Amino acid sequence: MLIAGNWKMNGLSPALGEVEALVRELKARPVAANVLVCPPATLVSRVAAAASGIIAVGGQDCHPQPSGAFTGDISAEMVRDAGGSWVIVGHSERRQYHGETNTLVAAKASAGWRAGLGVIVCIGETEAERLAGQEEEVVDRQLAASIPDAAGASPTAVAYEPVWAIGTGRTPTTEDIARMHAHLRSQLTKRFGSGARMIPILYGGSVNPRNAKEILAVPEVGGALVGGASLKAADFLAIIHAAPVGS
Ligand code: PEP
Repeated sequence: MLIAGNWKMNGLSPALGEVEALVRELKARPVAANVLVCPPATLVSRVAAAASGIIAVGGQDCHPQPSGAFTGDISAEMVRDAGGSWVIVGHSERRQYHGETNTLVAAKASAGWRAGLGVIVCIGETEAERLAGQEEEVVDRQLAASIPDAAGASPTAVAYEPVWAIGTGRTPTTEDIARMHAHLRSQLTKRFGSGARMIPILYGGSVNPRNAKEILAVPEVGGALVGGASLKAADFLAIIHAAPVGS
């Protein structure tokens, strides 16, 4: 199971204290789950140094090109060079606020693998799409167009994040999560065959210490992508410890 924290645009130097607390606690009480923290780019190298190999560190985005005249952007190679081993691509906030298309997200995923990173590709429907009963066709389109064929043989996770559940305190029912994750699993298997088994499907959207145990126990939930509740070590630890034993 992969429990990943997405700090978004949060975190100055004092936030390193949260990573140190997390690492201290995980050293004292090891877990089977893989733990990943994706801080803002400015902190990747310092979080990597504090992680002492106990947790993995990742970027929240990368540019498709390895280098070049792209002011303000960061390449996958730079994430790797800073000590990252994962990168998130296609987060709904990037799709919404930066106009990222499925095609661009796919190019970023390929860049992540090129640099030797694991790639978390985010997908998920808006509230209007769910109310219209279109959630499966929306995620099918995103899966088809934002996940390159190489995913079957490259370190990849899919994060199912209903947009309306991100940062709202609202979550789908466990039945809805189970239905969607079973659907995604069958789509991945159709496309990647046995390679699909290596692709965990994370749930993301208002996971917190109170609902984590129930969500992480849903079949085909292979972990969580956690925003707000990953900012404080105590909350994130509670979520990490909610992962089923042996997962
Ligand atoms: C996210 O940023 O991917 C996320 C799921 O945020 P939150 O947990 O705050 O809803």
